[in-house]
Amino acid sequence: MSTSTYRAALARLKAALDEVQPGYSRCGLCGWPDNRHRRVDASTGALVAGDSVVAVGEDYGLTPVEAGVLAALSLAADPRLHGLTQARALEVAEEVYADVER
Ligand SMILES: [Zn+2]
Repeated sequence: MSTSTYRAALARLKAALDEVQPGYSRCGLCGWPDNRHRRVDASTGALVAGDSVVAVGEDYGLTPVEAGVLAALSLAADPRLHGLTQARALEVAEEVYADVER
């Protein structure tokens, strides 16, 4: 795995989020360029923990398909899967989210 595959995975997640939950800003808690990561982390975590896509969708205002797709894309964009450090992942994210104010 490489930086380029991570960049592509992150861009796909961003594109899906732009359709499902448009509008974002920099995360006030961790500084990641997209504050929607907190909701996706939570909904994906619930799915991984065993909640159904229907239940997660209801909890997060998503259809079951949206909940499943966002989880799949979120897991594919996990920096650890690509052997990247958090610092390197953030560098790539700054490129993908070049429109976000620093
Ligand atoms: Zn954050």
